[in-house]
Amino acid sequence: MSDIREQNKTEVIVVGGGPAGIACAVTIARAGHEVILIERGRFAGSKNVFGGAIYTQPTREIFPEFEKTAPLERKNIEHKYAILGKDDSTIISYRKKHEDPVSYSVIRGKFDRWMAEEAKKEGVILVEETVVRELIVENETVIGVKTELENYYANIVILADGVNSLLAKQIGLRETIEPKDVAISVKEVLKLDKEKINDRFNIADDEGCIYELFGGPMLGKLGLGFIYTNKDTITIGLGITLDEFGEDDSRPPYELLDNLKSHPSIAPLIKDSELLEYSAHLIPEGGYKKIPTLCGAGVMIVGDAAMLVNNLHWEGTNLAMISGKIAGETAVVALSKGDFSENSLIRYQNELEKTFIIKDLKTYKDLMDVMHAQKTSYLDYYLRKINSFFEMFTSVNSKPKRELYWNFIKNYFKEKNPKEILKDFGYAVKLLWGILIK
Ligand SMILES: Cc1cc2nc3c(=O)[nH]c(=O)nc-3n(C[C@H](O)[C@H](O)[C@H](O)COP(=O)(O)OP(=O)(O)OC[C@H]3O[C@@H](n4cnc5c(N)ncnc54)[C@H](O)[C@@H]3O)c2cc1C
Repeated sequence: MSDIREQNKTEVIVVGGGPAGIACAVTIARAGHEVILIERGRFAGSKNVFGGAIYTQPTREIFPEFEKTAPLERKNIEHKYAILGKDDSTIISYRKKHEDPVSYSVIRGKFDRWMAEEAKKEGVILVEETVVRELIVENETVIGVKTELENYYANIVILADGVNSLLAKQIGLRETIEPKDVAISVKEVLKLDKEKINDRFNIADDEGCIYELFGGPMLGKLGLGFIYTNKDTITIGLGITLDEFGEDDSRPPYELLDNLKSHPSIAPLIKDSELLEYSAHLIPEGGYKKIPTLCGAGVMIVGDAAMLVNNLHWEGTNLAMISGKIAGETAVVALSKGDFSENSLIRYQNELEKTFIIKDLKTYKDLMDVMHAQKTSYLDYYLRKINSFFEMFTSVNSKPKRELYWNFIKNYFKEKNPKEILKDFGYAVKLLWGILIK
């Protein structure tokens, strides 16, 4: 081996300082191995965009005492599911103050940076402001990375470089993402007095509330909106599959977000707020069917780069952290054996299959296909019907209630013929069967 190669050689290189990369690197460092974590941003988290909530239990698996020192915003105690019509809405809410919070709202710029600093304390060598341009491959084995400045070599390279993962594409582990398999998400962080947040969302100082928004400007589109409460800011945004924007009448995502913000049920929540930040990011949406090959000789792929996101539940950071941890454990086993072949690293895939990650993605394997096929029914017609049912139910107009019910039912069948209703029902059964049984 040449001198320079010897000098620049470490045991493991992890590319990407998001939750997946940090969890992976810290797992390897804790086992006493040398690991370099390379992040292109000015600091870990500086490039990262999310809603969002991080989940307590999986985060504790990586940082058992994170609640003592991590920059957390609020403990989420309420989930609201709002179906937005043109000028009305139906909202279902679940509220519970768990003694042990399920999730916290965080600002990724602060939270990822905190995780990276903790990882450094445990021995991870963090290299920031460095972009990995390419993987170095020799005899079909990944042996290092090329950055703008230098080449670095390692026994194992772990790709935690997020949804686009150009590096996984370079070595053929991933194909180019199709527009239907990825959502474009736009979001704003809005400054608002803490007291106003508490009043408007009916929460105390350290409590948080999450809104999941259906319909409104996204009516008939495969997408969702969201609101998260932080200490003295609100995050509001939406995510819509990219293929929705190919159509002639499609409006750009930021225009849809403006429409969402001016909806009569949303505008009062954010009134008098001040825009602090605007960002956009992709979210993997392909699910189980689009999980790429997860390892090769000298390489593993984790988190968003491996398309590990459960979009129905807005779970991504937890899948990232746990996949990172398992890849880290696999690297430790491989280092102890001195075997970095695909046969050795396949342990990562086998272990991942035993976890909730692959099991959940498998459970929802048909979700996106069904939603693509039936979006005008499930994400338009039925949403509108729910709102019009409650409009009818709450009306007081001196008409007998039975007449109101029958008018509602007649309209229902006038707008949708029984064959279509049967088809919608068939798809719903297929989906449920997949979720509960097969
Ligand atoms: C709008 C939105 C809302 C979301 N809400 C939630 C939520 O509420 N809860 C939840 O759990 N998840 C949520 N997610 C998903 C979640 O953000 C992701 O699943 C999670 O961040 C994935 O972590 P990761 O480490 O795999 O990738 P990332 O967090 O994307 O990190 C990848 C890192 O790699 C770095 N990088 C990329 N390429 C290179 C390179 N070539 N060289 C060096 N560094 C590189 C990037 O700068 C980045 O820091 C949301 C996502 C979006 C977009």
